[in-house]
Amino acid sequence: MHTELDKLTTARSFVDTTCTRCGRCEKGCAFLKAYGTPGEIARKIRDIPHDQWPNPFECSLCGLCGAGCPESLRPDEMFLEMRRTREKAGALALKPYAPVLNFEKRGDSERYSLIKLPEGGDTVLFPGCALPASRPKTVRRLFQALQGTMPDMGVALGCCMKPSHDLGRTEFFEERFGRLHDALVAAGVKRVVTTCPNCQKVFSLHGGAISTTTAYEMLADSGFAPSIIDGGEAVIHDPCPQRYDGAIQDAVRTLARRSNIKIAEMENTREMTRCCGEGGMVKFVRPEFADRWTDQRRMESQESRMLTSCAGCTSFLGGPVAVDHVLDVLFDSKPRFALKGPFASIVRLKLKRWFQKTIS
Ligand code: SF4
Ligand code: SF4
Repeated sequence: MHTELDKLTTARSFVDTTCTRCGRCEKGCAFLKAYGTPGEIARKIRDIPHDQWPNPFECSLCGLCGAGCPESLRPDEMFLEMRRTREKAGALALKPYAPVLNFEKRGDSERYSLIKLPEGGDTVLFPGCALPASRPKTVRRLFQALQGTMPDMGVALGCCMKPSHDLGRTEFFEERFGRLHDALVAAGVKRVVTTCPNCQKVFSLHGGAISTTTAYEMLADSGFAPSIIDGGEAVIHDPCPQRYDGAIQDAVRTLARRSNIKIAEMENTREMTRCCGEGGMVKFVRPEFADRWTDQRRMESQESRMLTSCAGCTSFLGGPVAVDHVLDVLFDSKPRFALKGPFASIVRLKLKRWFQKTIS
């Protein structure tokens, strides 16, 4: 069995020996600009204790460095192993992450969770945490649209535990996600339909026998036609966890076109998309690095409206520039104001009750 240290040693030495230190990945990344190329970091951490390493919790784990690397390296995997090693050594302070960990805990709790599958069904919509807490109307309308093509579709409300995964809390993540996975299997679920890029990534990497697809692909493939036609213009912002998922990116563009939106591509798109600033929860420990990503992406939009498929990206990028979630556009359900604190909790509980009543 590989220990955390073995995995880090393997990743570190591969990056050290393969990285040519060309510096291409440093462009735009405040973390690499501060600490050096991935190869330099790999060499540096070889001989020094972990408390003197460049802080891996300041890397957004966005994967952009790998997407543009001529050597096809994936430095973000090494930075995640560095996080895991530090966590294993007891050097991860959880306090700065309290807001996101409390959100995760709520999503994972019995009070907010639900698995409901009609007889004969094997597929559930898994809307994650952020969408139900910010857009309950969107979730309801999406579910009804999906039910139109799949009447025995069920729902699973819960948390995919991506924050703990990205903080390197491996044992905790495996225990909690494993519990969710086992509950889904016990209920007869064979496929989950996600809306959130983070849930999609977790289920595709750790879902085992449970297969996964996205609501965007299902809607696009079923010929779904929105009843409201937007008719405006937008640039597409691809969420970074899905930078290699061309089919999901295509589906989002197809759906936007069906709303008669004239879409344009941003300077850095698809595989080369940029983080919105939320990645890796860097905002809690090195806000200026996270803000750099947000500012860059807003600038790249050139003041055009952005359209995305991630509730997190929508709220991180929104404010000074217009950003819409593609599902809000399709279902004419854009929230009139941001739901926060106890209001977000109440709407989640109401949504849970709606599903309990709606699915027989
Ligand atoms: S782009 Fe690749 S080879 Fe060049 S410095 Fe970055 S990780 Fe190293
Ligand atoms: S922030 Fe993104 S581009 Fe920079 S090192 Fe981390 S994964 Fe790579």
